[in-house]
Amino acid sequence: ISAEGVRPYDVHVGRGLLDEAGGLVMSAAGARRVAVVSDAQVGALYGQRVDDSLRAAGLTPIPITVAEGEAAKSFEGLQSLLGVLLDSGLDRGDAVLALGGGSTGDLAGLAAALYMRGIDVIQAPTTLLAQADSAVGGKTAIDAPQGKNLIGAFWHPRLVLCDLEALDTLDDRQMRSGYAEVLKYGLLGDRAFFEWLEANGAAVLDREPEHLAHAVETSVRAKAAIVAEDPREAGRRALLNLGHTFGHAWEAEGGFGEVLTHGEAVALGCVQAFQLSARLGLCNAEEAHRVEAAVRETGLPVRAPAALRGVSADALLARMAGDKKAEGGRLTLILARGIGRAEVVRDVAPEAVREVLIEGGAA
Ligand code: NAD
Ligand code: ZN
Repeated sequence: ISAEGVRPYDVHVGRGLLDEAGGLVMSAAGARRVAVVSDAQVGALYGQRVDDSLRAAGLTPIPITVAEGEAAKSFEGLQSLLGVLLDSGLDRGDAVLALGGGSTGDLAGLAAALYMRGIDVIQAPTTLLAQADSAVGGKTAIDAPQGKNLIGAFWHPRLVLCDLEALDTLDDRQMRSGYAEVLKYGLLGDRAFFEWLEANGAAVLDREPEHLAHAVETSVRAKAAIVAEDPREAGRRALLNLGHTFGHAWEAEGGFGEVLTHGEAVALGCVQAFQLSARLGLCNAEEAHRVEAAVRETGLPVRAPAALRGVSADALLARMAGDKKAEGGRLTLILARGIGRAEVVRDVAPEAVREVLIEGGAA
C-alpha cells in the first residue's frame, strides 16, 4: 500500500515482517544507526527479532526502552527519550524505529520530528489499534496536564511495518480496542466493509490470519486515502474522528485508560454518534440499531460501564465542547446519514446531545 506523506511511503501488512525489518529499513531509509524505541513488554517480546534483522542488514540497532502505555506520552518521557538519542550520538542520517502500540508510536514519532529538526521515523506498530489506525497518517503527540495529544507535530513515517504475527501476543481487550477503530472505517465511509465485519468480526478478533489481514489492509487503505486528500486535517480527515468527540469525553471521565481504553470509548462514541444522527433525523433509527448491535456483538461497550453510570451529562458536554476539534465553543460533530456516510455537522444542539448521553448512562 502506498501512502502520501511529505513524500509517499510504503505500508507493509503481512506476517513475519519484523524479521525482515533490516532489509526494508535499508531500502526505504538507508540509515546507519537505528534507535529502536519500545516499552519493556514489547521490547522483551520482539526487540531481539528486530535487532537481529537490522544487524543482518548491516545496520546498528540502539535499543531504547520507554514507559508503557499512555504514561509514555509525557513531557518527561519526551525529554528523556530525546536525551538518550543525543547521548547515543544519533545524527540526521540515522533513524528512529517505533516498535509498539500507539503510545510508543506517538512518542517516538514526536521525538523523531524534533530531534535535530527531524530525522526519519519508521513505524512498526504491534497493536491492532496502531496497525489499523495510528501508525499511518503522520500524527504524533504527547499529552499535557491540560489534555491529551495537545503537544504534537505532523511527522510522516518513511516506512510502516504492520506485522500481523505480533498481534498473537496481544490480550483480548487490546484486540477489541483496536477493532473499534477498524469498525470506524466501515462506519465512516465503507458500508460493504461494515457488512463484512458484521459477518467476520469474530474471526478478526480470533486473529484468523486472512481475516486479520483483510481488516488491517482495508483500514490502512481507508486511512491512507483520507490522509492523502487532507494531510493536515483541514477538511475530510476530520471524518476519522467519528465517535471520538463522544468517546473522548467518556474516556476523560474515566481517567484515560483506567475505566475505558481508547478503543472502548471510541466504540461507545460511534454508537452515540449514530444515535444522535437518528435523533436529528439525519439517518434512520434502524441504522443506529444496527451499529449498536455490531458493537455489542464484539463485547465493546454500547453504554457507559458501571463505573461511569451517573456521570454528569454537563461535565461530558463541557468536555465535548472544549474538545480541540470544536470551533469557538460550538458543538461540531462527526455524524452520519447512514452506515458508511459520515459527515461533519456544525452547530449541533446541545439538548439533543444531552439526551443521547443520558440514554447512555449519564445523569
Ligand atoms: P498502547 O500503545 O498504550 O499499548 C497498550 C499495551 O499493549 C501496552 O501495555 C503495550 O506494552 C502492550 N502491547 C503492545 N503491543 C503488544 C503486543 N504485540 N503483544 C503484547 N502486548 C503488546 O495502546 P494502543 O491502543 O496501541 O495506543 C493508544 C494510543 O494511541 C493513545 O495514546 C492514542 O492517543 C494513540 N492514537 C494515536 C493516533 C494517531 O493518529 N497518532 C490514532 C489513534 C490513537
Ligand atoms: Zn482513535
